[in-house]
Amino acid sequence: MPPGIPQRMSHFNPVATITPVPPVLPRPSGVVDDDHAMASALADNRALVIMLETVRAGRPVHVEYIPARPGHAGDWPEWVPRALVDAWAARGIRAPWSHQVIAADHAQAGRNVILSTAAASGKSLGYLMPALTSVLAGDTALYIAPTKALAADQLASVRSLGLPGLQAACFDGDSSRTERDWARSHARYLLTTPDMLHCALLPGHNRWSGFFSRLRYVIIDECHGYRGVFGSHVGHVLRRLRRVVAHHGGAGPVFLLASATIGSPAACARLLTGLDAEEVTQDGSPRGPLAFALWEPPLAEARGDAGSRVRRTATAHTADLLAALVRENVQTLAFIRSRRGAEAVAMAARRVLESASAEPLVAAYRSGYLPEDRRRLEAALCEGSLVGLATTTALELGVNITGLDAVLIAGWPGTFASLWQQAGRAGRSGRSAAAVLIARDDPLDTYLVRHPEILLRHPVEATVLDPANPYVLAPHLCAAAGELPLTERDLETFGPAAHAVVAELTRSGRLRRRADAWYSMRRFSTAPGGLRGAGLAPVLVVEEATGRLVGTVDEPSAHLLVHDGAVYVHQGEGYLVRRLDLDDRVALVEPGDPGYSTTARDTTEVEIRATREQMTWGEAEIRFGDVQVTRQVTGYTKRRPDTGAVLGEEPLDLPPRQLLTRAVWVTVPAAQREMLAAAGIDLAGAAHALEHACLGLLPLFATCDRWDVGGVSADLHPATGRLSVFVYDGHQGGAGFAERGFLAAAGWLEATRQAIAGCDCETGCPSCVQSAGCGTANHPLSKRGAVALLDLILGNSQG
Ligand SMILES: [Zn+2]
Ligand SMILES: [Zn+2]
Repeated sequence: MPPGIPQRMSHFNPVATITPVPPVLPRPSGVVDDDHAMASALADNRALVIMLETVRAGRPVHVEYIPARPGHAGDWPEWVPRALVDAWAARGIRAPWSHQVIAADHAQAGRNVILSTAAASGKSLGYLMPALTSVLAGDTALYIAPTKALAADQLASVRSLGLPGLQAACFDGDSSRTERDWARSHARYLLTTPDMLHCALLPGHNRWSGFFSRLRYVIIDECHGYRGVFGSHVGHVLRRLRRVVAHHGGAGPVFLLASATIGSPAACARLLTGLDAEEVTQDGSPRGPLAFALWEPPLAEARGDAGSRVRRTATAHTADLLAALVRENVQTLAFIRSRRGAEAVAMAARRVLESASAEPLVAAYRSGYLPEDRRRLEAALCEGSLVGLATTTALELGVNITGLDAVLIAGWPGTFASLWQQAGRAGRSGRSAAAVLIARDDPLDTYLVRHPEILLRHPVEATVLDPANPYVLAPHLCAAAGELPLTERDLETFGPAAHAVVAELTRSGRLRRRADAWYSMRRFSTAPGGLRGAGLAPVLVVEEATGRLVGTVDEPSAHLLVHDGAVYVHQGEGYLVRRLDLDDRVALVEPGDPGYSTTARDTTEVEIRATREQMTWGEAEIRFGDVQVTRQVTGYTKRRPDTGAVLGEEPLDLPPRQLLTRAVWVTVPAAQREMLAAAGIDLAGAAHALEHACLGLLPLFATCDRWDVGGVSADLHPATGRLSVFVYDGHQGGAGFAERGFLAAAGWLEATRQAIAGCDCETGCPSCVQSAGCGTANHPLSKRGAVALLDLILGNSQG
């Protein structure tokens, strides 16, 4: 064993793999008992060695070695003009990879195509070959990115080709009037976001007639980001685009979609665009070897709710790993679930490194920052003056930030697709890199790091979106009617749910039926609402003393993050919220770190509106249907930031918020309740523990974030008269997650049982039935009761 590799190595359970990183999922080929081979693989991996030597607390429970993959180059298609080939050659691209050629050939032949391969596999060349070829021949192409920052990156990259006659421009919220005018009269390659398409380009389509009439290609980049409610909105924006292009005589543009590795990419393309598409998933690009470590933080000194044992937080452990790597000048990206977590990790890593350097080597990066701050951070990371970056999701991060030596993922990122997308930011050809998943102290993370065979081999999910959601469909049908009168044929474009929604809009006077079509009655109304969040303007976070804008928070999050007395963290700086004014949409803050963090507490009530589907397992029932949820933030808890230990509670007076949404619920009748009660089981605690654990495991089956869904449970719920556990979509009109839970109920509840019963705590801990987001501070809770309840429910699930 080479020096410097700690003895702890022998506790690893390394699995050799012979196939490349997913989408071609590695197959386990047996445990390697040749310690020496594994040790040399690790010794070669500088990032992993530094982490093992420096951070001795806790241990990786598993290290997977994913070997390098050679590339498969293709030939330039003969239809790509010489000028383009030369321009790419001048930038060092001698030949395209095979997947780029296959996708480009489909598009050139007029077939819609979705290219779904790993991060940094060069998807852009796949869509740029046909798009720029057609632009040089006099057609136009539209490029749509989920963020302005990504569109700006792509514009810079296209302009750097230095092609005469390639008139490219961004059209976004940052463009000046002159830039917009230039773009409208001259741009052949236009880069924008779905938001701008929705609120400016489509409503003003008549002024863009020249552009739309020659539109040959529509590129939808990073399309895996269009999921849930936002994805459903984008799907309708694209249907409106198809209609507008047809109106201006465009010949039905070809859609080119680029996505990270996702399941069923063609189905995703169909949900988004309403059209069939070819899928290309065989990645021809090369990549360096990657060591993937699964790390469980050590148990903490402090005790949690009800005296349970708690682990050190994933963010604190990530900060230690980040500091260790940055000190050795290893460029590292740390992905953190929450905005606050990203700030906290950057701040803690900086504190550890303080003595080493005057210049901050570590920064935080997240949505809500002003664009100039984000561009400055990206540039610093690219040139190497910044060594570590703690960031929220991959989608917010500039796409050109790849090829890092190490990636730290603090907590399960929500989907297998995101896991591989984030890990894919590490590694460049010919160099070995490390990716680390640091488990949070919750049921899903614990379940996954202890089941590496699931974590590393589970197929990547399909994206979930539901364009038939009437709450999403209605504003787009109104907007569409404002753009061009809606005909019977148009309704087909918007899907089978459109007829009922149009009828309702006509009844309520928002559309008017004439002989030939439906017309908008709000033609002169203000711009339509936004695509992200509830359509309300975000809450501005403003420094009270100076009036300086610190950042923004969306409406639903404002109740939880910037209520009176909340501690709000921004770019490593703590702020105390003096006052939240929901009418003026502003939170007034003062700088300073009070030495504690805050968590909002809330109450939730559920009323059933309709049952859509149901099944019975013996006496137990599982239903799926429409519900009304009423949530109210009633107070907050102050906690120690390092251990999460409770310091105090404060009441709050915020208005309730109502949600009409969909839910899946499990119920057990009186006779069975009594059986459990007779066995000494605390029924309310059992239902509550089951609610927490099944909420925790649902992301594995429904491709949601833990915070996309909410739960309610009761020993005897007034809505059902039975012991009940509800799990609902946290979005107006639903988002498809609860429905997936219903469809996968048997597997979901079985995994939930395994997660609870398999935890070695006695009475429940954050790894099984406790939840950090619990509105009642994890009381009451019965771990034993949850297992008994699940046994009862699952007992008849096969029948
Ligand atoms: Zn436990
Ligand atoms: Zn709870």
